[in-house]
Amino acid sequence: MSAEYDLHTHSNASDGLIPPAELVSRADALGIRHLALTDHDTVSGLTEAQHAAIGKQISIINGIELSTRWQNQTIHVVGLNVNKDHDELINVTSRLDSMRDKRAKKIGDKLARAGIEHTYAKAKQLAGSGTVTRQHFAHVLVDMGVAKTTNDVFKRYLVRNKPGYVNADWPMLNETLYLIHSAGGVAVIAHPLRYKMTATKLRQLMTEFKQLGGLGIEVVTGSHSRDEISLVANYAKQYELAASVGSDFHNLDTAWAQLGNLASLPDNLTPIWQVW
Ligand code: AMP
Ligand code: MN
Ligand code: MN
Ligand code: MN
Repeated sequence: MSAEYDLHTHSNASDGLIPPAELVSRADALGIRHLALTDHDTVSGLTEAQHAAIGKQISIINGIELSTRWQNQTIHVVGLNVNKDHDELINVTSRLDSMRDKRAKKIGDKLARAGIEHTYAKAKQLAGSGTVTRQHFAHVLVDMGVAKTTNDVFKRYLVRNKPGYVNADWPMLNETLYLIHSAGGVAVIAHPLRYKMTATKLRQLMTEFKQLGGLGIEVVTGSHSRDEISLVANYAKQYELAASVGSDFHNLDTAWAQLGNLASLPDNLTPIWQVW
């Protein structure tokens, strides 16, 4: 059985493989009642998602997953229940879209210097009208036979100190939270255990995030094990953060990140949908 809430999903408006309308139909068929579409740094899929939900039992929460710089590393902050037509949100996301395009060109140039040619054009083609991400490069390199899996591509080419890595100048944590709040949304720390941070650093992140008005943390995400769910549930209680639940669905191939395939929230937490 599917969870009623899945508050972290991707469509082909960013690096997911299916269009927003298809995502909504699938989620509805699975029995999900509240779905947030949270594409990377863009709200361009939300209108299609909202339309697709008309006449169905499912309701769509307007969301976004914002790439954010914090302490010299990239973290992801999910904004939920944002006004997708908010001017500042539109301005910032269109700037991030061109930044992503410039970064993609540089990634293509660097890969070409490493002997792997024409990847920018291929990644752009794969992204279509969506915003271009490293995930598109990962798929392109797998298709070219350069590596077996997208994870392999990341490890060998697309992360820091590898030949196709290009640093991105994402907004700072305070800017991200300011944007989400201006657009009427609530901010949630995405997949807190995927950053390979020490516990001390994660505590520092939660403290700063709270001070900036951040309200939630993903306690249940596709990549968290049972023990990890308990760990983050304790953090949520300790830091008085509301708990969010999201698969981080991108495609049908990633077994640990399937739509609505989520553990239930541990007791004694405030679900994020009670605070927006
Ligand atoms: P970008 O936002 O363009 O830097 O691309 C990052 C995206 O690539 C993430 O949102 C993930 O969906 C995807 N990804 C897949 N595997 C990895 C990995 N090993 N490291 C980082 N990102 C990954
Ligand atoms: Mn992604
Ligand atoms: Mn993420
Ligand atoms: Mn995500």
